[in-house]
Amino acid sequence: QATLGVMGGGQLGRMFVHAAQSLGYRTVVLDPDADSPAGVVAHQHIRAGYLDETGLAELAAQCDAITTEFENVPAQALARLAERRFVAPAGASVAICQDRADEKAHFAASGVVCAPYAQIRNEAELAAVPDDLLPGILKTARMGYDGKGQSRVRSRAELATAWNELRNVPCVLEQMLPLALELSVISARNEAGDIVQFPVQQNLHRDGILAVTQVPAPNVSAELAAQALASAACIAAQMQYVGVLCVEFFVLQDGRLIVNEMAPRPHNSGHYTMDACDVSQFDLQVRAMAGLPLGTPRLHSPTVMLNLLGDLWFDAQGVERTPAWDQVLALPGTHLHLYGKASARPGRKMGHLNITAASAALAGDAARAAARILGLSTEW
Ligand code: ATP
Ligand code: MG
Ligand code: MG
Repeated sequence: QATLGVMGGGQLGRMFVHAAQSLGYRTVVLDPDADSPAGVVAHQHIRAGYLDETGLAELAAQCDAITTEFENVPAQALARLAERRFVAPAGASVAICQDRADEKAHFAASGVVCAPYAQIRNEAELAAVPDDLLPGILKTARMGYDGKGQSRVRSRAELATAWNELRNVPCVLEQMLPLALELSVISARNEAGDIVQFPVQQNLHRDGILAVTQVPAPNVSAELAAQALASAACIAAQMQYVGVLCVEFFVLQDGRLIVNEMAPRPHNSGHYTMDACDVSQFDLQVRAMAGLPLGTPRLHSPTVMLNLLGDLWFDAQGVERTPAWDQVLALPGTHLHLYGKASARPGRKMGHLNITAASAALAGDAARAAARILGLSTEW
C-alpha cells in the first residue's frame, strides 16, 4: 500500500488526506502540531524534527510521494526530499510562488500581463519608484496572505512610511488597478505535461479575505474565461509545473484581464469542486503526485461557496456560540465542511459551505438563505 505525504496539516492538508485515503493511500502529515486539522484524520503524524534533516529523512523514509499544502515550506526542503522521493510541486516551482517579484517575472516570461510594479528592496529603489505607480499597493515580497503585509498608499510620503512600517523588508509596489471583478483558475498538470482545468471561478473578497466564490462565473464572457484558462495553462507549462496550481486574476473596468498572483496548491477558491465537480481539486492533487490519470474534471452543478470565518462563532456581544448548522443544512444543496480547528478567532478560516443546485439562480437563492441564517452579507 503506497503512502502519500503532505507538508503541513492545516485545512488543505486535511482535505488532501481525505482525498488520498479515498483512493486507498496511507497518509503521513508533517506538522509541528499534533492536533492539526489534518492530524485528526492522518494515518500517522510526525511531530519531532519538523522540517529539520531528521524530520525530512523520516518523511522521505515513510512516503512514496510528497506534496505540500502551503507555499512557505522552504523550497530547499522540497529539493532535499526530491533527492529521494517524487515531490510535486517541485521546490523550484514553489520558490517562484514564494516571492512576488519572482512570480511577476515568471508571469512576464509566460506572456501574461500583471499590474505595473516596482521592486523596493532599498532606499535607492524606493526613491526610483515611478510616479505612475501611485496610488498603489505596497506588498511584502514574501509571506503575505489574506491581505496581510499590504498597505495602500497614495503618495510618496505614505509609501515611505508604509515601507518603514513593514520594517523595510523587500516589497513590491503595484499600481492600484480599477477592478471590475476577480477570478481564479485551478489547473492540474502531470509530469507528462497534460493539463486539466476547472471552469473559471468568480471571487469576492471582504477585508482582503476570500468570502464568496461563484461558478459558473456570472459576469465573465466566454472569451474572457477562455483567455484566463489559456493564461493559467501557459503559467503552469512555463515552469513545467506538476500538481495543482491556482492562478488569481483581476478583470479591470475596461475589460482587460490581468494576472494577480498564484498558489502552488489547492486553493480556497477551488473548494467548491468538492461538491460541484465530479473530481475535486484535492483528488487532482493526489492523482498528479501519484501519477494517476487526471481525467477530465466536469462541473455538474452551478455552485456558490461561502467561506466560514471565526467571526461566525461569536455573537454581537462577543460571546462564543455555535452557528446554526441545523438550519443551514435544512436548506437544499448545502454541503458543510468544517476544519476541526480547536478554537475560533475572528478572520480565522474555520470551514466553508458549498451550495449546489440545478441552476445558478437556485444556488444563489439557497446561498442567500444560508448567509441570512449565519449573519453573513448577502451582497455578492
Ligand atoms: P491571498 O490570501 O489570496 O493569498 P494576498 O494577501 O496574497 O491574498 P493579494 O491577492 O495580492 O493578497 O491581494 C488581496 C486583494 O487585494 C486582491 O484580491 C484584490 O482585491 C486587492 N488587490 C491586490 N492588488 C491589487 C491591485 N494592484 N489593484 C487593485 N486591487 C488589488
Ligand atoms: Mg497570496
Ligand atoms: Mg490573493
